[in-house]
Amino acid sequence: MRDVPVLYIVVPCYNEEEALPITAKRLAELMDDMSARRIAAPGSRILLVDDGSKDRTWEVIAGLCAADGRFEGVKLAHNAGHMNALWAGMTLAEPKCDCVITIDADLQDDVNAMYGFLEAYRNGADVVSGVRSSRETDTFFKRNTAQAFYRLMKRLGVEMVYNAADYRLLSARALKALLSFGEVNMFLRGMVPMLGFKTATVEYARGERVAGESKYPLKKMISFAIEGITSLSNKPIRYVTLAGVLCALLGVAMGVYVLISLFSGQIVAGWASIMMSIWLLGGMQLVALGLIGEDIGKIYMETKRRPKFILERYLHDGKEEP
Ligand code: UDP
Ligand code: MG
Repeated sequence: MRDVPVLYIVVPCYNEEEALPITAKRLAELMDDMSARRIAAPGSRILLVDDGSKDRTWEVIAGLCAADGRFEGVKLAHNAGHMNALWAGMTLAEPKCDCVITIDADLQDDVNAMYGFLEAYRNGADVVSGVRSSRETDTFFKRNTAQAFYRLMKRLGVEMVYNAADYRLLSARALKALLSFGEVNMFLRGMVPMLGFKTATVEYARGERVAGESKYPLKKMISFAIEGITSLSNKPIRYVTLAGVLCALLGVAMGVYVLISLFSGQIVAGWASIMMSIWLLGGMQLVALGLIGEDIGKIYMETKRRPKFILERYLHDGKEEP
Protein backbone atom coordinates (compact mmCIF):
# COMPACT_ATOMS: atom_id res chain seq x y z
CA MET A 1 0.00 0.00 0.00
CA ARG A 2 1.25 3.47 -0.84
CA ASP A 3 2.04 6.15 1.74
CA VAL A 4 -0.44 8.88 2.55
CA PRO A 5 0.02 11.26 -0.41
CA VAL A 6 0.54 14.98 -0.64
CA LEU A 7 -2.53 15.88 -2.64
CA TYR A 8 -3.06 18.83 -4.96
CA ILE A 9 -6.61 19.60 -5.98
CA VAL A 10 -6.51 21.60 -9.19
CA VAL A 11 -9.56 23.71 -10.02
CA PRO A 12 -9.87 25.62 -13.32
CA CYS A 13 -11.98 28.74 -12.88
CA TYR A 14 -13.37 30.91 -15.63
CA ASN A 15 -15.75 33.64 -14.51
CA GLU A 16 -16.63 31.69 -11.40
CA GLU A 17 -17.03 34.54 -8.89
CA GLU A 18 -20.43 33.18 -7.86
CA ALA A 19 -19.52 29.52 -7.52
CA LEU A 20 -16.01 29.88 -6.17
CA PRO A 21 -16.75 30.97 -2.57
CA ILE A 22 -19.09 28.00 -2.14
CA THR A 23 -16.69 25.62 -3.84
CA ALA A 24 -13.67 26.84 -1.89
CA LYS A 25 -15.48 26.42 1.41
CA ARG A 26 -16.52 22.90 0.49
CA LEU A 27 -13.01 21.95 -0.62
CA ALA A 28 -11.44 23.45 2.52
CA GLU A 29 -13.80 21.37 4.67
CA LEU A 30 -12.86 18.34 2.65
CA MET A 31 -9.16 19.06 3.19
CA ASP A 32 -9.78 19.42 6.94
CA ASP A 33 -11.47 16.07 7.01
CA MET A 34 -8.82 14.40 4.88
CA SER A 35 -6.03 15.74 7.10
CA ALA A 36 -7.84 14.71 10.26
CA ARG A 37 -8.37 11.22 8.92
CA ARG A 38 -4.79 11.08 7.62
CA ILE A 39 -5.84 10.45 4.06
CA ALA A 40 -3.97 13.49 2.75
CA ALA A 41 -0.49 14.37 3.99
CA PRO A 42 0.56 17.80 5.28
CA GLY A 43 1.50 20.03 2.38
CA SER A 44 -1.66 19.16 0.48
CA ARG A 45 -3.10 22.15 -1.31
CA ILE A 46 -6.01 23.44 -3.34
CA LEU A 47 -4.70 25.12 -6.47
CA LEU A 48 -7.12 27.55 -8.08
CA VAL A 49 -6.35 28.46 -11.69
CA ASP A 50 -7.95 31.64 -12.93
CA ASP A 51 -8.30 31.13 -16.67
CA GLY A 52 -8.25 34.80 -17.62
CA SER A 53 -11.64 35.59 -16.07
CA LYS A 54 -13.34 38.86 -16.81
CA ASP A 55 -15.20 39.05 -13.49
CA ARG A 56 -13.93 39.18 -9.91
CA THR A 57 -12.68 35.58 -9.85
CA TRP A 58 -9.07 36.61 -9.25
CA GLU A 59 -10.01 38.86 -6.31
CA VAL A 60 -11.87 35.93 -4.78
CA ILE A 61 -8.86 33.64 -5.28
CA ALA A 62 -6.42 36.20 -3.85
CA GLY A 63 -8.68 36.61 -0.82
CA LEU A 64 -8.80 32.88 -0.25
CA CYS A 65 -5.03 32.56 -0.51
CA ALA A 66 -4.52 35.37 1.99
CA ALA A 67 -6.95 33.86 4.49
CA ASP A 68 -5.92 30.21 4.27
CA GLY A 69 -2.44 28.90 3.52
CA ARG A 70 -3.79 25.75 1.96
CA PHE A 71 -5.03 27.68 -1.05
CA GLU A 72 -2.74 28.50 -3.93
CA GLY A 73 -3.74 30.67 -6.84
CA VAL A 74 -2.48 31.26 -10.34
CA LYS A 75 -3.81 33.66 -12.89
CA LEU A 76 -3.43 33.04 -16.58
CA ALA A 77 -2.88 36.17 -18.62
CA HIS A 78 -5.73 35.39 -20.99
CA ASN A 79 -8.53 32.90 -21.42
CA ALA A 80 -6.58 29.84 -22.54
CA GLY A 81 -9.50 27.41 -22.30
CA HIS A 82 -10.45 24.63 -19.92
CA MET A 83 -7.81 22.12 -21.10
CA ASN A 84 -4.97 24.62 -20.96
CA ALA A 85 -6.05 25.85 -17.54
CA LEU A 86 -5.95 22.27 -16.29
CA TRP A 87 -2.56 21.79 -17.92
CA ALA A 88 -1.22 24.92 -16.22
CA GLY A 89 -2.45 23.76 -12.82
CA MET A 90 -1.07 20.26 -13.27
CA THR A 91 2.30 21.60 -14.44
CA LEU A 92 2.61 23.73 -11.32
CA ALA A 93 1.44 20.97 -9.01
CA GLU A 94 3.63 18.22 -10.44
CA PRO A 95 6.91 18.95 -8.62
CA LYS A 96 5.17 19.36 -5.28
CA CYS A 97 2.69 16.54 -5.01
CA ASP A 98 2.30 12.78 -4.92
CA CYS A 99 -1.00 12.93 -6.71
CA VAL A 100 -3.30 15.48 -8.22
CA ILE A 101 -7.07 15.60 -8.52
CA THR A 102 -8.68 17.88 -11.09
CA ILE A 103 -12.23 19.05 -10.52
CA ASP A 104 -14.46 21.74 -12.05
CA ALA A 105 -15.18 24.86 -10.06
CA ASP A 106 -18.93 24.36 -10.15
CA LEU A 107 -19.10 21.28 -7.87
CA GLN A 108 -21.17 19.34 -10.40
CA ASP A 109 -18.87 16.48 -9.61
CA ASP A 110 -19.39 14.98 -6.17
CA VAL A 111 -16.38 15.87 -4.01
CA ASN A 112 -16.98 12.81 -1.85
CA ALA A 113 -15.82 10.65 -4.74
CA MET A 114 -12.33 11.89 -3.87
CA TYR A 115 -12.26 9.49 -0.94
CA GLY A 116 -12.70 6.69 -3.44
CA PHE A 117 -10.02 8.20 -5.70
CA LEU A 118 -7.51 8.28 -2.86
CA GLU A 119 -8.33 4.78 -1.75
CA ALA A 120 -7.77 3.49 -5.28
CA TYR A 121 -4.52 5.46 -5.41
CA ARG A 122 -3.27 3.91 -2.19
CA ASN A 123 -4.13 0.51 -3.57
CA GLY A 124 -1.85 1.14 -6.50
CA ALA A 125 -3.90 2.87 -9.20
CA ASP A 126 -2.10 5.63 -11.08
CA VAL A 127 -5.14 6.93 -12.92
CA VAL A 128 -8.56 7.13 -11.31
CA SER A 129 -11.40 8.51 -13.40
CA GLY A 130 -14.67 9.75 -12.00
CA VAL A 131 -17.52 8.30 -14.01
CA ARG A 132 -20.99 9.78 -13.98
CA SER A 133 -23.48 7.14 -13.04
CA SER A 134 -26.27 9.28 -14.45
CA ARG A 135 -26.70 12.44 -16.41
CA GLU A 136 -30.11 13.33 -15.10
CA THR A 137 -29.14 16.86 -14.17
CA ASP A 138 -27.81 17.62 -17.63
CA THR A 139 -30.22 19.02 -20.17
CA PHE A 140 -31.77 16.66 -22.70
CA PHE A 141 -29.68 18.31 -25.38
CA LYS A 142 -26.36 18.04 -23.54
CA ARG A 143 -27.00 14.45 -22.54
CA ASN A 144 -27.72 13.31 -26.06
CA THR A 145 -25.03 15.29 -27.83
CA ALA A 146 -22.47 14.07 -25.30
CA GLN A 147 -23.52 10.48 -25.77
CA ALA A 148 -23.43 10.76 -29.56
CA PHE A 149 -19.96 12.23 -29.24
CA TYR A 150 -18.67 9.34 -27.14
CA ARG A 151 -20.07 6.87 -29.67
CA LEU A 152 -18.48 8.71 -32.58
CA MET A 153 -15.10 8.81 -30.85
CA LYS A 154 -15.31 5.10 -30.30
CA ARG A 155 -16.01 4.50 -33.97
CA LEU A 156 -13.03 6.63 -34.86
CA GLY A 157 -10.89 4.34 -32.77
CA VAL A 158 -10.24 6.68 -29.85
CA GLU A 159 -10.05 5.00 -26.50
CA MET A 160 -12.02 6.96 -23.93
CA VAL A 161 -13.63 6.26 -20.59
CA TYR A 162 -17.33 6.49 -21.29
CA ASN A 163 -19.02 9.33 -19.44
CA ALA A 164 -15.86 10.38 -17.66
CA ALA A 165 -15.37 14.11 -17.30
CA ASP A 166 -12.15 15.83 -16.36
CA TYR A 167 -12.64 14.76 -12.78
CA ARG A 168 -9.78 12.40 -12.12
CA LEU A 169 -6.80 11.56 -10.00
CA LEU A 170 -3.34 11.15 -11.46
CA SER A 171 -0.36 9.86 -9.52
CA ALA A 172 2.90 11.78 -9.78
CA ARG A 173 4.31 9.41 -12.36
CA ALA A 174 1.16 9.37 -14.47
CA LEU A 175 1.13 13.16 -14.28
CA LYS A 176 4.76 13.33 -15.32
CA ALA A 177 4.06 11.06 -18.28
CA LEU A 178 1.04 13.11 -19.31
CA LEU A 179 2.99 16.35 -19.11
CA SER A 180 5.64 14.88 -21.39
CA PHE A 181 3.13 14.89 -24.23
CA GLY A 182 4.31 17.66 -26.50
CA GLU A 183 1.05 18.60 -28.14
CA VAL A 184 -0.48 22.01 -28.10
CA ASN A 185 -3.87 20.85 -29.34
CA MET A 186 -4.96 18.51 -26.68
CA PHE A 187 -7.90 16.61 -25.43
CA LEU A 188 -7.16 15.22 -22.00
CA ARG A 189 -9.95 12.68 -21.95
CA GLY A 190 -8.45 10.93 -24.93
CA MET A 191 -4.85 11.33 -23.82
CA VAL A 192 -5.15 9.90 -20.33
CA PRO A 193 -6.06 6.37 -21.53
CA MET A 194 -2.93 6.47 -23.71
CA LEU A 195 -0.81 6.58 -20.56
CA GLY A 196 -1.55 3.00 -19.68
CA PHE A 197 -0.75 2.41 -16.01
CA LYS A 198 -3.10 0.86 -13.55
CA THR A 199 -6.46 2.52 -13.93
CA ALA A 200 -9.54 2.60 -11.73
CA THR A 201 -12.92 4.27 -11.94
CA VAL A 202 -15.17 5.66 -9.25
CA GLU A 203 -18.84 6.25 -9.93
CA TYR A 204 -20.75 9.25 -8.68
CA ALA A 205 -23.97 11.04 -9.46
CA ARG A 206 -23.47 14.32 -11.27
CA GLY A 207 -25.27 17.25 -9.72
CA GLU A 208 -26.27 20.74 -10.71
CA ARG A 209 -23.94 23.68 -10.82
CA VAL A 210 -23.79 25.30 -7.36
CA ALA A 211 -23.95 28.81 -8.81
CA GLY A 212 -23.44 30.74 -12.01
CA GLU A 213 -24.01 29.27 -15.43
CA SER A 214 -22.20 26.91 -17.77
CA LYS A 215 -18.97 28.26 -19.23
CA TYR A 216 -19.40 25.90 -22.15
CA PRO A 217 -21.78 27.49 -24.61
CA LEU A 218 -22.64 25.53 -27.75
CA LYS A 219 -19.83 27.18 -29.66
CA LYS A 220 -17.19 26.01 -27.19
CA MET A 221 -18.80 22.57 -27.03
CA ILE A 222 -18.54 22.15 -30.79
CA SER A 223 -14.94 23.26 -30.94
CA PHE A 224 -14.19 20.98 -27.99
CA ALA A 225 -15.68 18.04 -29.91
CA ILE A 226 -13.81 18.91 -33.11
CA GLU A 227 -10.61 19.21 -31.10
CA GLY A 228 -11.20 15.78 -29.64
CA ILE A 229 -11.71 14.17 -33.00
CA THR A 230 -8.96 15.89 -34.94
CA SER A 231 -6.31 15.75 -32.25
CA LEU A 232 -6.67 12.04 -31.67
CA SER A 233 -7.84 10.42 -34.87
CA ASN A 234 -6.62 10.33 -38.44
CA LYS A 235 -9.59 8.28 -39.52
CA PRO A 236 -11.70 10.99 -41.17
CA ILE A 237 -9.10 11.45 -43.90
CA ARG A 238 -9.01 7.71 -44.41
CA TYR A 239 -12.71 7.87 -45.22
CA VAL A 240 -11.89 10.40 -47.93
CA THR A 241 -9.42 7.99 -49.49
CA LEU A 242 -12.00 5.26 -49.25
CA ALA A 243 -14.62 7.43 -50.94
CA GLY A 244 -12.09 8.16 -53.69
CA VAL A 245 -11.40 4.50 -54.31
CA LEU A 246 -15.13 3.79 -54.44
CA CYS A 247 -15.63 6.67 -56.84
CA ALA A 248 -12.84 5.45 -59.12
CA LEU A 249 -14.28 1.92 -59.08
CA LEU A 250 -17.68 3.33 -59.98
CA GLY A 251 -15.90 5.25 -62.73
CA VAL A 252 -14.62 2.03 -64.22
CA ALA A 253 -18.11 0.49 -64.11
CA MET A 254 -19.49 3.69 -65.59
CA GLY A 255 -16.86 3.46 -68.34
CA VAL A 256 -18.07 0.03 -69.31
CA TYR A 257 -21.67 1.27 -69.40
CA VAL A 258 -20.71 4.34 -71.41
CA LEU A 259 -18.78 2.27 -73.95
CA ILE A 260 -21.69 -0.12 -74.38
CA SER A 261 -24.04 2.80 -74.90
CA LEU A 262 -21.59 4.40 -77.30
CA PHE A 263 -21.32 1.36 -79.53
CA SER A 264 -25.03 0.63 -79.48
CA GLY A 265 -25.28 4.19 -80.82
CA GLN A 266 -28.10 5.56 -78.64
CA ILE A 267 -26.32 8.63 -77.24
CA VAL A 268 -25.82 12.33 -77.76
CA ALA A 269 -22.41 13.31 -79.15
CA GLY A 270 -19.92 14.17 -76.38
CA TRP A 271 -21.83 12.46 -73.59
CA ALA A 272 -19.50 9.48 -73.35
CA SER A 273 -16.29 11.46 -72.93
CA ILE A 274 -17.83 13.77 -70.33
CA MET A 275 -19.29 10.92 -68.28
CA MET A 276 -16.01 9.02 -68.27
CA SER A 277 -13.98 12.06 -67.19
CA ILE A 278 -16.31 13.07 -64.38
CA TRP A 279 -16.18 9.74 -62.61
CA LEU A 280 -12.61 8.76 -63.24
CA LEU A 281 -11.14 12.18 -62.56
CA GLY A 282 -13.33 12.75 -59.52
CA GLY A 283 -12.30 9.43 -58.05
CA MET A 284 -8.65 9.97 -58.78
CA GLN A 285 -8.71 13.41 -57.25
CA LEU A 286 -10.29 12.13 -54.07
CA VAL A 287 -7.73 9.36 -53.81
CA ALA A 288 -4.92 11.86 -54.30
CA LEU A 289 -6.43 14.17 -51.66
CA GLY A 290 -6.74 11.29 -49.28
CA LEU A 291 -3.12 10.29 -49.79
CA ILE A 292 -1.91 13.83 -49.24
CA GLY A 293 -4.16 14.06 -46.21
CA GLU A 294 -2.73 10.83 -44.89
CA ASP A 295 0.76 12.34 -45.04
CA ILE A 296 -0.34 15.60 -43.48
CA GLY A 297 -2.00 13.56 -40.75
CA LYS A 298 1.28 11.80 -40.09
CA ILE A 299 3.17 15.09 -40.00
CA TYR A 300 0.54 16.41 -37.62
CA MET A 301 1.00 13.48 -35.28
CA GLU A 302 4.79 13.79 -35.54
CA THR A 303 4.71 17.42 -34.54
CA LYS A 304 3.01 16.45 -31.30
CA ARG A 305 6.28 14.87 -30.18
CA ARG A 306 4.56 12.39 -28.00
CA PRO A 307 6.76 10.10 -25.94
CA LYS A 308 7.36 6.75 -27.60
CA PHE A 309 7.03 4.84 -24.36
CA ILE A 310 6.07 5.45 -20.79
CA LEU A 311 7.97 3.60 -18.10
CA GLU A 312 5.99 1.92 -15.41
CA ARG A 313 8.71 0.06 -13.50
CA TYR A 314 12.46 -0.32 -13.69
CA LEU A 315 14.21 -3.02 -11.70
CA HIS A 316 17.86 -2.27 -11.33
CA ASP A 317 20.47 -4.05 -9.21
CA GLY A 318 17.66 -6.03 -7.69
CA LYS A 319 15.74 -3.00 -6.52
CA GLU A 320 13.24 -0.65 -7.99
CA GLU A 321 14.29 2.72 -9.32
CA PRO A 322 11.75 5.38 -8.70
N1 UDP B 1 -13.48 26.69 -17.69
C1 UDP B 1 -12.23 27.24 -17.88
N2 UDP B 1 -12.00 27.94 -19.04
C2 UDP B 1 -12.95 28.11 -20.01
C3 UDP B 1 -14.21 27.51 -19.82
C4 UDP B 1 -14.45 26.80 -18.64
O1 UDP B 1 -11.35 27.12 -17.05
O2 UDP B 1 -12.67 28.75 -21.02
C5 UDP B 1 -13.73 25.94 -16.44
C6 UDP B 1 -14.96 26.36 -15.66
O3 UDP B 1 -14.68 27.43 -14.79
C7 UDP B 1 -15.30 25.09 -14.91
C8 UDP B 1 -14.89 24.00 -15.89
O4 UDP B 1 -13.99 24.61 -16.80
O5 UDP B 1 -14.56 24.95 -13.72
C9 UDP B 1 -16.05 23.35 -16.61
O6 UDP B 1 -16.93 24.34 -17.12
P1 UDP B 1 -18.50 24.24 -16.97
O7 UDP B 1 -18.85 23.68 -15.64
O8 UDP B 1 -19.07 25.58 -17.28
O9 UDP B 1 -18.86 23.22 -18.11
P2 UDP B 1 -20.13 22.24 -18.16
O10 UDP B 1 -20.18 21.51 -16.85
O11 UDP B 1 -21.31 23.09 -18.39
O12 UDP B 1 -19.82 21.33 -19.31
MG1 MG C 1 -20.03 22.21 -15.05
